Amino acid sequence: MSATHSASHSFDLIIVGAGLAGAALACVVAQANKELRIAMVEAQTLPAEPPSLAQAVQGFDPRVSALTLASQQLLQGIGVWPAIISQRAEAYSHMQVWDAEGTGSVSFEAAEVNQPCLGYIVENRITLSALLNTLKGLANVQCFNPAKVAALESEPQQRCLRLEDGQRLSAPLMVAADGANSLLRQQAGFAVREWDYQHRAIVATVQTELPHQHTAWQRFLPQGPLAFLPLAAAAEADSHFCSIVWSAVPEYAQQLMALDDQTFAQQLAAAFEHKLGAVQALSQRYSFPLQQRHAVDYIQPGLALVGDAAHSIHPLAGQGINLGFSDVAVLAEEILRASQRGLALADYSILQRYQRRRKADNLSMMLAMDGFKRLFAETNIALRWLRNTGMNSFNRSPAIKRKIMRSAMGLN
Ligand SMILES: Cc1cc2nc3c(=O)[nH]c(=O)nc-3n(C[C@H](O)[C@H](O)[C@H](O)COP(=O)(O)OP(=O)(O)OC[C@H]3O[C@@H](n4cnc5c(N)ncnc54)[C@H](O)[C@@H]3O)c2cc1C
Repeated sequence: MSATHSASHSFDLIIVGAGLAGAALACVVAQANKELRIAMVEAQTLPAEPPSLAQAVQGFDPRVSALTLASQQLLQGIGVWPAIISQRAEAYSHMQVWDAEGTGSVSFEAAEVNQPCLGYIVENRITLSALLNTLKGLANVQCFNPAKVAALESEPQQRCLRLEDGQRLSAPLMVAADGANSLLRQQAGFAVREWDYQHRAIVATVQTELPHQHTAWQRFLPQGPLAFLPLAAAAEADSHFCSIVWSAVPEYAQQLMALDDQTFAQQLAAAFEHKLGAVQALSQRYSFPLQQRHAVDYIQPGLALVGDAAHSIHPLAGQGINLGFSDVAVLAEEILRASQRGLALADYSILQRYQRRRKADNLSMMLAMDGFKRLFAETNIALRWLRNTGMNSFNRSPAIKRKIMRSAMGLN
């Protein structure tokens, strides 16, 4: 899958961005139709080797995703799921959510929806490496890497890209999977609704004194939610690891980032009410700004947005890439349907079906997350009381809980 350096190349489909969404889309389409010639363009140098997986806080990728069963099914269909599981993934069967400002709490159990688990916590680099490894074996995918897009150009019936090294790629259909700050989205002039959550997320890996009990934990603090996500440890190891995502208002996040490791670990354990005892070791910390962004349209003639290029969302419910994988599944289905029926891949009705099937779903999840974020930031005492009472009533309503759980797991 290496690129030759002639000036101009034409393809049936160009995918920009070999992150989780772009790489998954390339795999699904290329596997299902070997006649389609696909270009994959990625700016960052892709790792040649699978990641090394040490059992220590620095040995884990600080970026992890809680993959739903729907995402697992997509990855299973591509054939990468066994590779992911054989590397490192933690099935979690419980989720515990509670309010720091009261007595409200909600617990979710996989057994309530007759499933073996609620989902899997997987390091992003493991999922990505499994996808890239599969791509290497697909002769109809040509990878331009490292290759950064310089400009998007249009011709009648074609979308064209100019890469920074001067190469020019064209295809009737192009997919922007180039992430939250998508250059393609900006250059094509897609309108976007965005607002700053006024939160930064601090992520790190921690070793805890007590086992995580295969539970995804989330405590809503006045400054923002704090999640402890369980990580898999070797069977013989007596160490317990979690990935943390601590979202907080920017000034507080800045103070937390400035603390030395020992003080941060103490404050982290205290903010988590020492549910897993002391934080015994801590990896490097990273901090990301959080913004909600949603493209008003996902499509233009010959161009579609997927994953974070179309929508980015607060990580508090771990839905970002799950929505992205659902986009991938639907767009791939529509592209493959077009090719089976002898329609042009960029036939606008195909793209419209993709947009119709995905936009409402993504929007409702984004609105729900925004509502949660606002509800838990509420300081008004009456609203706090209502929130806690509401959480407890919700926890005692199995039918409603089951419905919400099935929807969050992508089972509907
Ligand atoms: C703290 C945090 C925690 C999260 N936790 C979860 C979770 O538990 N569950 C979940 O589902 N989601 C989670 N998310 C969201 C999830 O990480 C994202 O939704 C997901 O990574 C987006 O994948 P993507 O492939 O769409 O974009 P990206 O991963 O951003 O990939 C885009 C790719 O495009 C490439 N690119 C960009 N510009 C160019 C260019 N000009 N030319 C060529 N290539 C380019 C980039 O190098 C990159 O490889 C979390 C996010 C954050 C910030």
